[in-house]
Amino acid sequence: MSTKKIPPRVGFVSLGCPKATVDSEHILTRLRAEGYLISTSYFDADLVVVNTCGFIDSAVEESLDAIGEAIAENGKVIVTGCLGAKGDVVKQSHPSVLAVTGPHATEEVMEAVHAYLPRLHDPYMDLVPAQGIRLTPKHYAYVKISEGCNHRCTFCIIPSLRGDLVSRPVGDVMQEAQNLLDAGVKELLVISQDTSAYGLDVKYRTGFWGGKPLKSRLNELAGAMGDLKTPEGERAWVRLHYVYPYPHVDEVIPLMAEGRILPYLDIPFQHANQRILKLMKRPASSENMLARIRQWRGICPDITLRSTFIVGFPGETEEEFEELLDFVEEAQLDRVGAFAYSPIEGAAANELPDHVPAEVQEERLARLMLLQEEISAERLERNVGKSVTVLVDEVDDEGAVARSSADAPEIDGLVYIEDGQRLNAGDLVEVNVTGSDEHDLWATIA
Ligand code: SF4
Repeated sequence: MSTKKIPPRVGFVSLGCPKATVDSEHILTRLRAEGYLISTSYFDADLVVVNTCGFIDSAVEESLDAIGEAIAENGKVIVTGCLGAKGDVVKQSHPSVLAVTGPHATEEVMEAVHAYLPRLHDPYMDLVPAQGIRLTPKHYAYVKISEGCNHRCTFCIIPSLRGDLVSRPVGDVMQEAQNLLDAGVKELLVISQDTSAYGLDVKYRTGFWGGKPLKSRLNELAGAMGDLKTPEGERAWVRLHYVYPYPHVDEVIPLMAEGRILPYLDIPFQHANQRILKLMKRPASSENMLARIRQWRGICPDITLRSTFIVGFPGETEEEFEELLDFVEEAQLDRVGAFAYSPIEGAAANELPDHVPAEVQEERLARLMLLQEEISAERLERNVGKSVTVLVDEVDDEGAVARSSADAPEIDGLVYIEDGQRLNAGDLVEVNVTGSDEHDLWATIA
């Protein structure tokens, strides 16, 4: 009779933002490293981990539904992630969950897994690839460089969910980035709650990479990442997200001009009016911002600027909103995400007076988006007739879908390559742009 043991199986549900995705990847990597199998169905799994999002009310609902479904289908459920930081909410709705942890809690999740589903004696270390388990396509990956945030923006509860800034050691980040490239990744998406603050908590300590000292600071890290090579000797695409507008962000623009990192900056401004920015506890000088944008474009004319704005913040008057419209008109940003302010439980801004009625918020949001659509359409049209390098995401009978340096996955536009049927996902190709609209480009292979 065979005594071979069957490895325990864990089902995994991953909800939320890219930061939560990275947490999921770390947990999945540990699970595989310890010999657990990852199950694709509730039915097969011995236990289910649900990584939740707790940012806005609809995300809370989605997370609670997912937990409910996992309990109904499987019964043994461990909850982690942002909603887990509000432990009471989870326990009240679903008292039968086995354990609840907050975000960024691989160790605690593993402890809970061990308690309810002991691992086999011999970890299958050799089954785990060096780049870890990824939830993104093979050719791009998120790299989280820090956790938590030292700011206290009044509309946000992330610091209370994830705590103050903790930066990862620079050598670890670089090793992870190199492992990813060695495994076929072409594009590294640098994320955190506040990318520009990287290293502040460790006083920009000097670490080591490749036998050489390297400072834990955004500029140095971005430069070093930009110099990494794929096994084919190509320079990796490095894209910076969630860059808070500190003055020292100016330093990374020359790296973009030199082609070491992508000429792309995701920099949330949130508003343009001084009073509203102050109420939000954000840096308050839109004139200064316009001057900096001009300066960035002077250094790196190809730079793509992406930003996000909140409209209808408590107390926002029509004049203050119009100031935001003027800023958007003047700044001519390439990509804009805008949201109507929505009160998140626990956010300080909820206590502010004069909340803007929902219909006024919606009307302002529509005006801002209409203006931005015109700007985006006009800026994208400038690409027609030019040739650009794109990274292919998907291929089917109708052609290929790709992205240029101006397009981050999921949030920006796409480049449709009409004759791209023979390309493969992960190819970097040169295309001629033939058409455009307010979001996307159309092209043929050059
Ligand atoms: S910088 Fe970002 S994460 Fe930090 S408090 Fe402000 S909005 Fe929240």
